[in-house]
Amino acid sequence: MSIVNCEPLKELVRTVPDFPKPGILFYDITTLLKDKVGMAQLIDAFAAYYIDKDIDLVLGIEARGFIFGPALAYRLNAGFVPVRKPKKLPAATAKVSYDLEYGTDSLEIHLDAIQPGQRVVIVDDLLATGGTMQATVKLVRQLGGEIAGIGFAIELDFLKGRAKFQEYDVLSLLHYD
Ligand code: AMP
Repeated sequence: MSIVNCEPLKELVRTVPDFPKPGILFYDITTLLKDKVGMAQLIDAFAAYYIDKDIDLVLGIEARGFIFGPALAYRLNAGFVPVRKPKKLPAATAKVSYDLEYGTDSLEIHLDAIQPGQRVVIVDDLLATGGTMQATVKLVRQLGGEIAGIGFAIELDFLKGRAKFQEYDVLSLLHYD
């Protein structure tokens, strides 16, 4: 399905050089989220894409996937599941570790968050190398969920993170070269 043209939303994304460390250009979506038209268009665009895909759950990755994931879940009449940094979730979890530029990090999900066969959309604010999303895909597969889609507000095309998800339906609303 074709999606709404989101290009005008780029004007609402703030770029901050050298954050969180020198050499990184940070794409800050808080300036988009606080804009009532921008916020609505962001959710509308995601919802238009997924509304007919029979989605049971929206998974948001900590932390910025928590900001718009629940709004999308509401629009899709789906549940919301948080994928969290280690030691934040209170009940039994599955855990996956992944490589960062220096060292490793981990993500966790409650073991009972997804029932086998449930159709899941995973969302995050930004696709860079794809390591964070790849870890989340592993968690969903461990729990037997069916990945119906992977959605990002922003994709940094030049990092080619998309190549990690060739077997999945990847939607990015805004692209940066
Ligand atoms: P990656 O695992 O390399 O795809 O990195 C994606 C995660 O890191 C997302 O959760 C983003 O929030 C964050 N991230 C990575 N690079 C940037 C960036 N340039 N601007 C904003 N967030 C970023």
